[in-house]
Amino acid sequence: MFIDHAEIKVISGRGGDGSASFRREKYVPRGGPDGGDGGRGGDVIFEVSTDLTTLRDFRYQRVFKAESGHPGSGSGSFGRQGKDLIIPVPQGTMIIDEAGRVLADLTQPNQRYIAARGGRGGRGNIHFATATRQTPDFAERGEPAEEKIIRLELKLLADVGLAGYPNAGKSTFLSRISSARPKIADYPFTTLEPNLGVVDLEGGGFVVADIPGLIEGAHQGVGLGLDFLKHLERTRVIAYVVDVSGMEGRNPADDFRNVRHELNMFSPDLARRNALVIANKMDIPGADVGLELLAEAVGEFGYEVFPISAVTGQGVQEVLYHLAELVKNSPAPESPVIEVQPEEPPTSLSDYELRYNAEENIFEASGVVLERLVAMTDLSSDDAVLRLQRIFRKIGLEERMKQAGAEQGSLVRIGQTEFELDLSHE
Ligand code: GDP
Ligand code: MG
Repeated sequence: MFIDHAEIKVISGRGGDGSASFRREKYVPRGGPDGGDGGRGGDVIFEVSTDLTTLRDFRYQRVFKAESGHPGSGSGSFGRQGKDLIIPVPQGTMIIDEAGRVLADLTQPNQRYIAARGGRGGRGNIHFATATRQTPDFAERGEPAEEKIIRLELKLLADVGLAGYPNAGKSTFLSRISSARPKIADYPFTTLEPNLGVVDLEGGGFVVADIPGLIEGAHQGVGLGLDFLKHLERTRVIAYVVDVSGMEGRNPADDFRNVRHELNMFSPDLARRNALVIANKMDIPGADVGLELLAEAVGEFGYEVFPISAVTGQGVQEVLYHLAELVKNSPAPESPVIEVQPEEPPTSLSDYELRYNAEENIFEASGVVLERLVAMTDLSSDDAVLRLQRIFRKIGLEERMKQAGAEQGSLVRIGQTEFELDLSHE
């Protein structure tokens, strides 16, 4: 399968829990609070790596999780931070969220995007001492992790597209001119992934794509051709690769005409771009005849023809120089402007919704910040629960619940947590 997109799950590290600890002092049963903060959880970060050219690695790994923060401890010790997880992606990868928003368009080498932020470490009980509560026996729990489904889409940014019949020698040529190592097939199917190769030349390198799938009927979407051709839309130069060996009874003139016809049917605009023709397999005896036939067929289009052998390397340098020239002299096609949409702005504690779930006889309050607050509260501590209640009162949650019909002992659910409403204030 041709992979130009992948769907993965990213999970940041949760924050480490704060510590509820007390100083040990001689003859004092319980000294002051000295529990340190938990460490931040790691982020999940996408980073452009020019070593990658496809998203194929994402076929094998689908879940990516950063390290959680470590818990704080006594004597005010901070917990260690969780390590970030850096996921390398090829240049030209778009990061898209579940709602289809493009969060980032990663076009520059080493460009980064933080896709999931690590949770904040919970505060240790040092922070919760007040005049009336000198020995807080609770600490904050670490902030929960962020978890998201992310769709990656790769746009191939090739300067030169290799167009030719299966087995013409496109992959062999590409592997010779670049560090890319495409699969080389002996059977009349093409490699099913477009292979990109970067050609380094003094005075400006360029990117070449081997476009498999340019077969008869490709423009009609037969087979996988159309998918590949879409990736060609930004290609500046076309290099037709034709097998002139005459083996297997092929006629190089027909091969060239057919491939060009296919390209033209798919996109007349592409077919009009600057082009040259590579007459490949010149090392095979009898190729001279094929070369002549080809040159004749190419004549009317005005392209230059370069005889080479991708296997022996004969003639390859010369083609490269001419390709470099053509690339330099060809306008870069308009790149599609990808509109990047920022993530939704953070909300506040008082942004929540309240509803009564009659089926379960429970009041449900939902809101990102509110749910986080509850998740970070150590509910086994009376002090921590009292603090939470005070906050509920402050943001009007208690009042709204009463108006909605809640009473002492009514069930309330916030995020994953359920508890009984306590309206008896201290
Ligand atoms: P693609 O389908 O266009 O990518 O073609 P490949 O690069 O996979 O080549 C198809 C077959 O032709 C392979 O067996 C190659 O070894 C062979 N081949 C490619 N270029 C040459 C060449 O210049 N000379 C010879 N003799 N064989 C070649
Ligand atoms: Mg190939």
